[in-house]
Amino acid sequence: MRMIMLGAPGAGKGTQAVKLAEKYNIPQISTGDIFRSNIKNGTELGKKAKEYIDKGMLVPDEITIGIVKDRLQQTDCKNGFILDGFPRTIPQAEYLDDALESMGVKLDVVLNIGVDDSEIIKRMSGRRVCPKCGLSYHTIFNPPKDAVNCDVCKVQVIQREDDREETVISRLKTYHSQTEPLINYYGGKGLLLTVEGRDKIDETTKAIFKALGV
Ligand code: ADP
Ligand code: AMP
Repeated sequence: MRMIMLGAPGAGKGTQAVKLAEKYNIPQISTGDIFRSNIKNGTELGKKAKEYIDKGMLVPDEITIGIVKDRLQQTDCKNGFILDGFPRTIPQAEYLDDALESMGVKLDVVLNIGVDDSEIIKRMSGRRVCPKCGLSYHTIFNPPKDAVNCDVCKVQVIQREDDREETVISRLKTYHSQTEPLINYYGGKGLLLTVEGRDKIDETTKAIFKALGV
């Protein structure tokens, strides 16, 4: 299975991608997670990416495309992958088309999770993430079992710096202007599958599995 998760920031892409990756036994590739781990490790890439991420802007295409190119060449992507947060612009999508063609593979589906902006703001303000593995939690909708630490890594979950309300508002604007056009791009290719993302996490997972026939 080769798939893309589309949707506004906070729509639930990461939350659902983890479940899909487990179901299909393929890697979840989150460009946001790759940037955050580079920021944490103080790499040059991390320093550059942070300037954009903190402002709620997209990291430039040439940087983002470079990391995805390397990642898709790793052996664990041979039997499929879930791209979570990439592509986010038309040039990124066009690059991906070319890259997959040269790898001799095709996308199976682009899963679009639809959620209104007002719901997004609620989700982002309560989001907490594991600084180690990147798993997403929510203070109300999906708290860690002991309310404080990641269920898997047992380290304290934290709020992302770019989940502050001012940054969330710019990220939503960026989404509408630069990423939303991908809905038509993939719709035109007959690859789009849209799932309502307003329901609870488990209900949404069920709807996705049903739509995918698994
Ligand atoms: P994305 O990867 O699209 O940015 P996340 O998967 O990190 O979004 O989800 C954003 C926040 O919303 C997290 O705090 C997550 O726990 C919560 N969340 C995800 N899906 C739902 C849902 N269906 N209902 C309520 N909260 C959700
Ligand atoms: P995410 O974890 O997917 O919400 O991504 C966090 C931030 O990383 C985004 O707000 C962007 O600044 C940056 N980012 C992640 N993926 C991309 C991408 N495909 N293109 C450009 N910037 C990205």
